[in-house]
Amino acid sequence: MPTTATPPFNYWLWMQAMAETLAASADPRHYGQRMRTKRLAELMRTTLEGSPFYRRRAARSVGGTPRLEDFEPVGKRELMQHFNDWATDRRITRASVDAFLSDPARLADPYLGQYMVWTSSGTSGEPGTFVQDARSLAVYDALDAVRLRSGGGAYSPLASWSVGQRVAYVGATGGHFAGNASIARLQRVVPVLARPFAPTVKVFSVLDPLRQLVTELQAYQPTLLITYPSCAAALAQEQAGGQMHLRLVETWCGGEQLSPAQRDRIRTSFGCAVRNNYGASEFFAIAWECPQGRLHLNDDWVILEPVDEHRRAVPPGGQSHSTLLTNLANHVQPLLRYDLGDRVRFVGRACPCGSAFPLIEVDGRADDTLQLNDAKGHPVTLLPLALATVIEEGADVAHFQLLRTAADALELRFESMVRDPEIAFVRSRAALAVFLARHGLSNVRIQHGLAPPIRQARSGKLCRVTALPGRAAAGGAGQHPPAAVGT
Ligand SMILES: [Zn+2]
Repeated sequence: MPTTATPPFNYWLWMQAMAETLAASADPRHYGQRMRTKRLAELMRTTLEGSPFYRRRAARSVGGTPRLEDFEPVGKRELMQHFNDWATDRRITRASVDAFLSDPARLADPYLGQYMVWTSSGTSGEPGTFVQDARSLAVYDALDAVRLRSGGGAYSPLASWSVGQRVAYVGATGGHFAGNASIARLQRVVPVLARPFAPTVKVFSVLDPLRQLVTELQAYQPTLLITYPSCAAALAQEQAGGQMHLRLVETWCGGEQLSPAQRDRIRTSFGCAVRNNYGASEFFAIAWECPQGRLHLNDDWVILEPVDEHRRAVPPGGQSHSTLLTNLANHVQPLLRYDLGDRVRFVGRACPCGSAFPLIEVDGRADDTLQLNDAKGHPVTLLPLALATVIEEGADVAHFQLLRTAADALELRFESMVRDPEIAFVRSRAALAVFLARHGLSNVRIQHGLAPPIRQARSGKLCRVTALPGRAAAGGAGQHPPAAVGT
């Protein structure tokens, strides 16, 4: 049963975050950088005082003034393994978080009376659980309002959340996923008095068949669509084909790579502006897109260090193998030099838009949208995020690759770290079979591939959902492996 507990929202912290974020937007070089230095010092101090895990990892700096480089880089798996030693609030334990997450009705409820908890959805390979304090939530809210919604221009509360705005969020539902939890929080923290003026927000499941989504969106008639690029592109195709008639003002994309082809298709089919953003479950608003269509890093609230495969610094302009993230906003479950896995390039040039926030390019997740034929030969589109979520959540298997080998055949491969691939296959197949049946695809065969997953030649990265080279993807991602989100 849904609860009535109010999700974490602290008005004073929100006011402070808004004021500081606005001030840094006006003066990124001086005020923004000064705040970044101050916040980093506070974060390191709180972390060393409160987190046994990080204290052990930064032993060299004990006794002296800590420096960021004293913290050894850390990955998600390691943090999850040391979950009980990680948080600075020592009441936070794996057992209590898992008990909280096991109840879907507690979505966006306050955990321990004051925190938000969310998990990464089926886009990130390794499952992650993240606890956010009221300050970090206030910062994400402020970055969202000041930079994302206005494209970095002057803050206007009416820019995108205007009266009469109807927002459709199409994402992974049915779990405490970061996007889903954030939307649920937003819906519940709007004060009763403000509700008539607030936008209507409705959540749709990316796991539902595309045909059903089209019918539901057509009935709802949103003005703002928030979703993954692959989903927006598939919906744009439906709009172009005349199956749907939405009158969108804007589409916001995130969570996967937005290719130029996808952007074009969404813009021309819907006749609306397309705004990209780069965020992750680990930090919700890493970068925002300016009117020039470029990504600016929120470097007053988050530090990114591009690194090579040995986690050594990559000079400006160079393409990284991965990126170390330091979240300057969240003190309860600190992330310092956290290996995000994303390939990022610091462009090192000024942007024509005039903003001094650094320009970055992200070589993000770009799984394929798959097209399979039903028993009558009719094509059915399957979104990569939906397929990945079904396997990750339904079968509790993270390290897989799903290949489309024919119009009616899929192959599942597993990484070497999967202890019992046979059991992983049986569970994944069972979860997939239910999903495929809902899409009218009970005819599709699912085989166990014994070969190792195919990796991207350039980066060595794994694409979790892929059409075999030369076979038909549904033109979703526009970047084909043979061989690859954030979120
Ligand atoms: Zn710009």
